[in-house]
Amino acid sequence: MSTEWIIENRELLGLTVLCPCCHDEVPETIRCSQCVGWGYVRPGLDATCIHEWKELTQAAAKSLGIYHAGMCYHVYICTECGKIKSEDSSG
Ligand SMILES: [Zn+2]
Ligand SMILES: [Zn+2]
Repeated sequence: MSTEWIIENRELLGLTVLCPCCHDEVPETIRCSQCVGWGYVRPGLDATCIHEWKELTQAAAKSLGIYHAGMCYHVYICTECGKIKSEDSSG
């Protein structure tokens, strides 16, 4: 991937703020979970909080009103700011 390609796509994705976690420090090699290797994040919680992810069980997600697809689906909550992220590990 060329640097131009990365910059162009980063802007398309709205990743305009330097990642508070890895600070663009060789993002491809450290695989930072905050910016998923982009080195930049969207303005907002990703830029102000270094997330501490904790996985929610299906029951816990349901009780919080969060969609949980089951088995191969993982829902995480940041214990610092309360942001939710979900991942499907079946694909
Ligand atoms: Zn990062
Ligand atoms: Zn957070």
